[in-house]
Amino acid sequence: MKKKTRKYIFVVGGVISGVGKGITTSSIGKILQSHGYKVTAMKIDPYVNVDAGTMNPTEHGEVFVLKDGDETDQDMGNYERFLGTSLSRDNYMTTGRVYLSVIEKERALAYKGKCVQVVPHIPYEVIDRINHAVDKAGAEIVVIEVGGTVGEYENILFLETARMLKIKNPDDVLFAIVSYLPTPNTVGEMKTKPTQHAVRALNSTGIQPDFIIARSNTALDEKRKEKLALFCNVTPESVISAPDVESIYDVPGNFEKDKLGDKILKRLKLKSRGTSEAWREWEGFVRKSHSAKDEVRIAVVGKYFDTGDYVLADSYLSIIEALKYSAISQGKKAKLVWLSATTFEGKNPPLSELIGFDGILVPGGFGSRGVEGKLNVIRYAREHKIPYFGICYGMQLAVIEYARNVLGYKDATSREIDPKSKHLIIDIMEGQKENMEKGNMGGSMRLGAYPAVLGKGSIARTAYGEDKIVERHRHRFEVNPEYVEALEEKGLVFSGKSPDGKLMEIAELPTSAHPFFLGTQFHPEFEARPLSPHPIFTAFIKAAIVRGKGK
Ligand code: GLN
Repeated sequence: MKKKTRKYIFVVGGVISGVGKGITTSSIGKILQSHGYKVTAMKIDPYVNVDAGTMNPTEHGEVFVLKDGDETDQDMGNYERFLGTSLSRDNYMTTGRVYLSVIEKERALAYKGKCVQVVPHIPYEVIDRINHAVDKAGAEIVVIEVGGTVGEYENILFLETARMLKIKNPDDVLFAIVSYLPTPNTVGEMKTKPTQHAVRALNSTGIQPDFIIARSNTALDEKRKEKLALFCNVTPESVISAPDVESIYDVPGNFEKDKLGDKILKRLKLKSRGTSEAWREWEGFVRKSHSAKDEVRIAVVGKYFDTGDYVLADSYLSIIEALKYSAISQGKKAKLVWLSATTFEGKNPPLSELIGFDGILVPGGFGSRGVEGKLNVIRYAREHKIPYFGICYGMQLAVIEYARNVLGYKDATSREIDPKSKHLIIDIMEGQKENMEKGNMGGSMRLGAYPAVLGKGSIARTAYGEDKIVERHRHRFEVNPEYVEALEEKGLVFSGKSPDGKLMEIAELPTSAHPFFLGTQFHPEFEARPLSPHPIFTAFIKAAIVRGKGK
């Protein structure tokens, strides 16, 4: 029997983080897919947290939730979107997760009396996890991103794992280092030295990179390619110029211009199987994304923007991408403006600023900071008929706003904000009470995919074109069933409910009352893909376009 193809590509970082290792990993996956291979992608994060769920988004960016409920790094979202697939918890690991399972196995005598050591047992555990993920995905090639940069203590064991795998399977393992080439203003010349040092640091772990993905402001010239080749032990063709691009979706195409797909396949002793249909579709999407000119202006009102003196929208990455796809599908460019919720609090909040927008979105969130500002914004959007889309907390707050200002429950709130209030419109789920009391906060929310049933004639049902859906969740609180009847009597429609009718999944106003006022308890952004924009995002964008035209 012919041996099944199983190839491993490790993507590591050099010099600084944040220069596109995740996009490189996704793009390498994409181009190998385009050559006809079954590809999966994995992320190894060096931190000790078992998952990303317990971290503040300003600390670590968005928490991306997988179908199976795993709370992971935002790069997992990039892989899913680029590869057009859904990944599982097997595709994600952290130092904490790996150690936890080794310790649990040790406690269960799984090592049969052996002395359990950091090396080799931790690398063996990582290799087992990689192979398990490949088996589960039925993949021929796995692209594995190692978090952090080379030279850090944190990821050293993961590099050791990669080295061990290479020694055992020399033709099946390949390394790419994504490194940064700065052009200091005072010098005016692109510098290769930091990358040379990064490659040397990688060499000191026993690993020689096969490819250098050279990230820089502008394209690399031949001179720099040759220099890097000479000092880093690679051929000039193995230095891939990766200048800044307008859109991350240009990256796979740029890699292909450099024939990176063919070069990788050759190194792995594989042959191209011809261009796949999915690649043609992808190229169509990229073309369309560039030809879209007119803007649809969306205000995103949230609170996880500020880190020190910088404003980072990373916490809402999937929402940004989902809005982009839906806008592109309508031939438009999504122009997103970040508004901090707290600026809409206090005596005279600048709410009239909102009138200029075609749509307003309030994303997910936690805690009470900024809540009153969001409620003011939601009320304004409802009363001024500005298309409104609330996601998770944005849905819960829309229901609270309705209870306060339409039903007249002035103290309506969520238990998360004020547990002493008489009108807890949003309350804790039974099963969650115990978690909270025991301080069991990690991985214990309502997480991952759950089904919902949609009501006839609703915006949601029309958008999806079907009456049963499955969407990803991440929340502890729910619409309190005690108030559902009163809210519905006053015109709020719960158009999506759990199959047993107990949990409210979507709240909306009929189009006779408002052009688009809708909130989802789930996170539709995690299911949006470039080639299949999410129907609710598209419905929201369509309503925003209509408003834009009328202005
Ligand atoms: N804080 C809310 C809850 O836990 C909403 C969570 C969210 O927006 N992801 O239910």
